[in-house]
Amino acid sequence: MRILKIQTLRGPNYWSIRRHKLIVMRLDLENLAETPSNEIPGFYEGLVEALPSLEGHYCSPGCRGGFLMRVREGTMMGHIVEHVALELQELAGMHVGFGRTRETATPGIFQVVIEYLNEEAGRYAGRAAVRLCQSIVDRGRYPKAELEQDIQDLKDFLRDASLGPSTEAIIKEAEKRGIPWMPLAARFLIQLGYGVNQKRMQATMSDNTGILGVELACDKEATKRILAANGVPVPRGTVINFLDDLEESIEQVGGYPIVIKPLDGNHGRGITIDIRSWDEAEAAYEAARQVSRSIIVERYYVGRDHRVLVVDGKVVAVAERVPAHVVGNGRSTIAELIEETNLDPNRGEGHDNVLTKIELDRTSYQLLERQGYNLNSVPPKGTICYLRATANLSTGGIAVDRTDEIHPENRWLAQRVVKIIGLDIAGLDIVTSDISRPLRELDGVIVEVNAAPGFRMHVAPSQGIPRNVAGAVMNMLFPNEQSSRIPILSITGTNGKTTTTRLLAHIYKQTGKVVGYTTTDGTYIGDYLVEAGDNTGPQSAHVILQDPTVEVAVLESARGGILRSGLGFESANVGVVLNVAADHLGIGDIDTIDQLANLKSVVAEAVYPDGYAVLNADDNRVATMSEKTKANIAYFTMNPSSELVRKHIEKGGVAAVYENGYLSIVKGDWTHRIEKAENIPLTMGGKAPFMIANALAASLAAFVQNVTIEQIRAGLKTFRASVSQTPGRMNLFNLGKYHALVDYAHNPASYEALGSFVRNWTTGQRIGVIGGPGDRRDEDFVTLGKLAADIFDYIIIKEDDDTRGRLRGSASDLITQGITQAKPNCRFESILDETQAINKALDMAPDGSLVVILPESVNRAIKLIKVRGVHEEIQPQS
Ligand code: ATP
Ligand code: ATP
Ligand code: MG
Ligand code: MG
Repeated sequence: MRILKIQTLRGPNYWSIRRHKLIVMRLDLENLAETPSNEIPGFYEGLVEALPSLEGHYCSPGCRGGFLMRVREGTMMGHIVEHVALELQELAGMHVGFGRTRETATPGIFQVVIEYLNEEAGRYAGRAAVRLCQSIVDRGRYPKAELEQDIQDLKDFLRDASLGPSTEAIIKEAEKRGIPWMPLAARFLIQLGYGVNQKRMQATMSDNTGILGVELACDKEATKRILAANGVPVPRGTVINFLDDLEESIEQVGGYPIVIKPLDGNHGRGITIDIRSWDEAEAAYEAARQVSRSIIVERYYVGRDHRVLVVDGKVVAVAERVPAHVVGNGRSTIAELIEETNLDPNRGEGHDNVLTKIELDRTSYQLLERQGYNLNSVPPKGTICYLRATANLSTGGIAVDRTDEIHPENRWLAQRVVKIIGLDIAGLDIVTSDISRPLRELDGVIVEVNAAPGFRMHVAPSQGIPRNVAGAVMNMLFPNEQSSRIPILSITGTNGKTTTTRLLAHIYKQTGKVVGYTTTDGTYIGDYLVEAGDNTGPQSAHVILQDPTVEVAVLESARGGILRSGLGFESANVGVVLNVAADHLGIGDIDTIDQLANLKSVVAEAVYPDGYAVLNADDNRVATMSEKTKANIAYFTMNPSSELVRKHIEKGGVAAVYENGYLSIVKGDWTHRIEKAENIPLTMGGKAPFMIANALAASLAAFVQNVTIEQIRAGLKTFRASVSQTPGRMNLFNLGKYHALVDYAHNPASYEALGSFVRNWTTGQRIGVIGGPGDRRDEDFVTLGKLAADIFDYIIIKEDDDTRGRLRGSASDLITQGITQAKPNCRFESILDETQAINKALDMAPDGSLVVILPESVNRAIKLIKVRGVHEEIQPQS
């Protein structure tokens, strides 16, 4: 077996609209191509021995053991690899259920599709599955040690990719609310929502969090001073920079017991509490000095440690934090009890699990000594033995929810304090013996205000009710269900995508909104180019969706991007499918036009149920996509008597129809005439029927988004097929005696479309300079020749500079075949060099003629025309 290619899908895709995270592995079974599993001696037994849990896979028989039954009876290795890859992830704690295996048009080569939770783990699982199966084929077994290593590696991928418990909680809540999110390229920033409606978070700081508040909170001394000035109870204390000042500072705060901590520390680093002697104080000073230059000396307040979380001015959770400890059982030593406690699967390293493993430090031994123990003591049953002085979860502490117990006065105080510091999300550390009584009564204090407080202790407390604190954050960022999204209009089809995308963007601009759009020419925001290039994949979509100025996204969604990585968004508001015709067949295992239709259908299906699929009623493969999408349907048609559209309108549907020379929206009993086709420059004075179809699609997409008829009209009338707006799309030049047209038609359907315009050219000869990209199939070139013979009076065949692996001259020969088959007496010649071919055509053009150029390089062709002195670039008006 050999893996030929592994692709990672991240959005709605060819295999599934709902399952966005899929790995597609192209697998060559090689010598196993004709050997089902039942014909491989010992395979079934070896597989069951390696992965007995495969028993849980139902597969097609639909019952427990179903899949293994298939293995015993005989199934192909691709299918087995799929199930093994899923099971490996399952064993590593990643629940994935979706898989598909299909043989491609090339016998023995399979596409194996598996779901993943973590991209890297998914790809790894695919490769490991192949390794595992191959080993069982070759040796009858897969070594246990290797399997264990695989599972450990998979777990590591998941752990390394973890964004931390706070961010995970926020993401989970966003997903629950249907708020889209994506990681940004730097600083662990997470974007919630799209475009102008986006918010950002970094851990638990939001883009509402002010820098002044954060800096103040990080300076413990300044915080205390401001709070004290406002009458808030804070620890009595002072800051020193030299050991010489320590003695005096202890007197200043009222003598022992004291606390010594670094001025700008966190996570309890360098803190010593309950210091009762000079020796301890000196040691504590040194420890704090490791963390910070300036040192805080404070009175020690006896009490329990609480964390009060305030979000958007409200207390949303309270937790009591209990320092790391073990409970005696009368038999085990303290060392043994610690080991046992750390076995808890909930305890991980650092912040990556619900709890953290207990680790001892310098203060631990002191603390034990004070309690009369050492590590080898056996504490009596039921005795609590503290191991750390501070209660940070990151040093092994636990959290107990106290949200329902906090006294209203304390709640008020906490909210007031956070306002004074100036934070939208803050965690207060309060030391008091009982949070259900006012601080003042118990001599409780506010020790610290934390910016970016961790959520772990609230969403997963060791005891008590988990609190949905991420929900409070979402309520703050997106109040009143304020939309986190912007309208997304996504456009696909075999031909006309870029034109329609640009036109739709132009129409939408009439509403005054900032439109971001992507096309095969580049990514644009408003009137400006962001980035040139073929930008029809998910990455370019993200450029638009991440831009904080964009109010509407219009996205050309091409075949390649959908196939390679899936759509770059979960759902659109409008999904437009223009047409499906033979193009790119044989590339990427899309071999038939129906497969191509299924691929393009992704755009119609990945639409919100209250959105619209805008479908071409005249193209049966497109029209029937209505059966697959849950969205509303809107049809466009060039045929005013279309039966399908008539019925659709009768049922209350909306449509765009070309009728009596007008582009019109038909809804209910009313026909809203937008504009006469001949007044729409894009349609070349109404002579280019396919452009009318594109304009109908764009108008309809805008209409279902509540763009007004007037705005649509204004857009249609001011959009021109000029070189600057649509280079290479029907660019017509008047050269005085004759005209030249540059167009990018590159498949049979677009040739036909172009032909429908060229045939309307009645003032003189029609000369074609034609060719196509070398990676198309042989029969496509023949078809091209046939169609051209039918359109032009004289043909010059040329080839691209880049033959894409094809033998020079071969495309030309195939086109010649097509021409002579269709019209044996057709006049033509072959000039393989594109520049020469174009020049020849322009040189020979008689008066009144039209030279149609289908170039490899649009820019070069336009230059060749312009040097001959263009009178005007025609933008036909009525
Ligand atoms: P974190 O970042 O986890 O909040 P930190 O390093 O910022 O910790 P503090 O919050 O100042 O440190 O102190 C850690 C803990 O030490 C407090 O939550 C509290 O339990 C205890 N503590 C700190 N100062 C005092 C004090 N003056 N009296 C009693 N306990 C204190
Ligand atoms: P690509 O796949 O290269 O991105 P596209 O789908 O974006 O192409 P456009 O760039 O808009 O298509 O148009 C390319 C050519 O296709 C046009 O110049 C024209 O010849 C032809 N074309 C445009 N619209 C249609 C249509 N609705 N039906 C058939 N052909 C069309
Ligand atoms: Mg603290
Ligand atoms: Mg395009």
